[in-house]
Amino acid sequence: MLQLILATKNSGKIKEVKNIFSNTGFEITSLLDLNSKLDIEENEETFEGNAIRKAEEVFIKYKIPVLADDSGIETEQLNGIPGVYSARYAGENATDEENNQKLLDELRKYPEPHAAKYVCCAVYYDGKNFITEFGEIKGKIIMYGRGTNGFGYDPLFVPDGYNKTMAELPPEVKNNISHRGQAFNKLKKKITIFKEII
Ligand code: IMP
Repeated sequence: MLQLILATKNSGKIKEVKNIFSNTGFEITSLLDLNSKLDIEENEETFEGNAIRKAEEVFIKYKIPVLADDSGIETEQLNGIPGVYSARYAGENATDEENNQKLLDELRKYPEPHAAKYVCCAVYYDGKNFITEFGEIKGKIIMYGRGTNGFGYDPLFVPDGYNKTMAELPPEVKNNISHRGQAFNKLKKKITIFKEII
């Protein structure tokens, strides 16, 4: 088993990424599992910049290969906002409910439909090599949340081609189609090949 540290304490993300790496030769340990006190600032301007920063900081601390991601939701009418600020849109330490409420308050000023997309950058870093992958999924924001699966903006996000919100879809469906699912599935394939050649 090759151990990888997942550079997040977000339990929603941890569940999804562990699922993607289940039944592989990789064992995922998150910062939550490690009871880590590490608090990584996300002050880069891109998803990739933030993901790389998280991976580097966690590698420096634990010296074990790291998986990190940075993700968020971009809305067309708000010119990409909240984007990289998705986790703290309503302020530092904002809850999902507070962020969702702020997004609805801002979007209410514009006519429906509110086009949006989830974006994710996933990174592997082993102290020497970076491997980076991206995923995105388009959809729209609805004005009343539905569903209890997932996390964050999921009750408000309806993926294109579906009539259920991300929080109403079963977790395995979300993981198949989501921005994070796409990015980490690609990353998993690349790391597997990389591990075979070194
Ligand atoms: P970060 O990647 O830890 O900076 O946080 C990303 C933030 O974007 C989360 O706290 C959520 O608010 C939002 N987000 C990212 N991915 C998802 C998702 O799959 N569902 C719902 N919200 C998400």
